[in-house]
Amino acid sequence: MSLLELRGLGGGYGQVEVLRDLNLTVDEGEVVVILGANGAGKTTTLRAISGLLDRVSGDVFFDASAITNKAAQAIAQAGISHVPQGRGTFGDLTVDENLRIGAITRKDGGVESDLARWYEMFPRLAERRTQAAGSMSGGEQQMLAIARALMARPRILLLDEPSLGLAPLITKEVFERLGEINKEDGLAMLVVEQNASLALAIADRGCVLETGSIVASGPASQLMADETVRKAYLGF
Ligand code: ATP
Repeated sequence: MSLLELRGLGGGYGQVEVLRDLNLTVDEGEVVVILGANGAGKTTTLRAISGLLDRVSGDVFFDASAITNKAAQAIAQAGISHVPQGRGTFGDLTVDENLRIGAITRKDGGVESDLARWYEMFPRLAERRTQAAGSMSGGEQQMLAIARALMARPRILLLDEPSLGLAPLITKEVFERLGEINKEDGLAMLVVEQNASLALAIADRGCVLETGSIVASGPASQLMADETVRKAYLGF
């Protein structure tokens, strides 16, 4: 069975149904990208997985256990870390404090060595470790949000438009780091991203979401070569 499996997922807000019979899998070690127009339901899909959507139907399996409708905290503790759109870092707290919050539920003794590791991978965070997170640039805050999610030692990382509001060079750097983390740790990732070419470049597979259902999916290389996908999401 896949590490994460969505089976016939439905859900939405109040009376509004956003997700419709959505089926998706992410295997251990895989990077899967969700493409789709604004309002297709990409953010809602990640929120449904993380237990942040009020109303979910169908099944979410993680590591062969049903986690549908479990509390967000229990889902996070099971090994799913969500980097939300807009990053969600604590602006008044320092970089170091933000990172330690990411590890708050851990009881193992590896927190200090993990901190050292992510400071090494994100040197600008190390330079700014005593600085308030809110005083940093958008790119630095995005790296902080990712590093904070990693501090939980997740088994899968959910990333909601990590490139949002970032300059192209910074976006490229963010995706390079994500690619390295996937390669080095075999960490699975499910990424929602408008910058399809950068995201597909580090992905194993991709899929296209339209009005709450997956309408196309396949290996990243196949999607990059697909004319409809290229025109709609890659711009050439
Ligand atoms: P975007 O790229 O714009 O973030 P998306 O694919 O992530 O798009 P969602 O944010 O999941 O799309 O939104 C899907 C639909 O759900 C949209 O029609 C949106 O208006 C609606 N929606 C999102 N959040 C809420 C909410 N809190 N209450 C009511 N409707 C919502």
